[in-house]
Amino acid sequence: MTVLVLGGAGYIGSHAVDRLVEKGYDVAVVDNLVTGHRAAVNPKARFYEGDVRDQAFLNRVFDQEDIEGVMHFAAFSIVPESMEKPLKYFDNNTTGMVSLLEVMNQHNVKRIIFSSTAATYGEPKQIPIKETDPQIPTNPYGESKLMMEKIMRWADEAYGIKFIALRYFNVAGAKEDGSIGEDHHPETHLIPIILQVAAGERKELSIFGGDYPTKDGTNVRDYVQVVDLVDAHILALEYLKAGHDSDAFNLGSSTGFSNKEMLEAARKVTGKEIPAKMAPRRAGDPSTLIAASDKARKVLNWQPQFDNVEDIIRTAWNWKQKHPAGYDDQNEAK
Ligand code: NAD
Ligand code: UDP
Repeated sequence: MTVLVLGGAGYIGSHAVDRLVEKGYDVAVVDNLVTGHRAAVNPKARFYEGDVRDQAFLNRVFDQEDIEGVMHFAAFSIVPESMEKPLKYFDNNTTGMVSLLEVMNQHNVKRIIFSSTAATYGEPKQIPIKETDPQIPTNPYGESKLMMEKIMRWADEAYGIKFIALRYFNVAGAKEDGSIGEDHHPETHLIPIILQVAAGERKELSIFGGDYPTKDGTNVRDYVQVVDLVDAHILALEYLKAGHDSDAFNLGSSTGFSNKEMLEAARKVTGKEIPAKMAPRRAGDPSTLIAASDKARKVLNWQPQFDNVEDIIRTAWNWKQKHPAGYDDQNEAK
């Protein structure tokens, strides 16, 4: 049987496809390449180019494949863009989920592993954030993902489609051999931007906000290595296959690093000076986000291999050095 990965040409999805193939799963991928890269998809996976919202297309894929479960990474995820274009997010993310669940139900596919996010919690009331804490998003991106979680709950109730919502904190790094990695246009995430400065592609890093109530005034985040993260998806799929009920899990390291600490760590890893300046706060940034991640460790038996941000940054730097132009140097058919 086959695992269908929606959004499998994207940053996290491509690592999931690769890891599933490595572990001997049969894999099919759906992606419309709106932000993803055809060259990122492991050649052992069958690739279907199309949109999750296109039910006729999805039905053809589900007719052709014998699917045991889906992993759903296909979404837009840039917070500031979602503030300006909320409907774009509800359309792609939330409508996409309705379309997918309808097709799953029609084809009697009963398992979905879903990319949720710490953004569903909004401004946390307590640190570390537990799965049972209130979910009050502060931007349309987080709201669209919370709606997707809720829709899955009711689809479970009505049709018995079991789901695992994985609420990611800050995902970073790349496969250790540097063959796949993060390549977003535009890039908005801290680590790849720092590495663009290290590589001389940007003049300097702007650190957004120095007056937060944290150890050094800059935001604190919880970084999780992308391969560790995708391993939790495979454990979650097996958990549902073992007959367990729907649930939600945080995926993070449970350790917080400030933006200044991340910059220092990157300077150490790359040996580069990495010029940086303080800049105004970025709208919508919570001061501190740290996951309580013991539930995933206990219940899913998740055992992340990376416990040190320098090692995580090193994997991102290795990808960057091997692919200075990202996937553009790989003749991708786009
Ligand atoms: P990404 O943009 O690299 O990947 C998303 C993939 O989905 C892309 O390949 C894109 O082409 C595809 N896609 C988008 N809309 C589609 C549609 N309607 N039909 C078919 N394909 C579509 O993003 P990513 O960083 O890999 O994130 C993957 C998921 O993880 C997202 O759902 C995001 O919300 C979630 N997430 C990411 C982070 C992070 O730190 N990167 C943190 C929390 C949650
Ligand atoms: N950040 C920054 N400069 C940048 C990009 C990001 O200071 O050029 C900060 C951002 O304000 C946040 C942290 O880095 O405090 C992580 O941001 P990212 O966008 O990587 O992830 P987020 O936490 O928003 O999901």
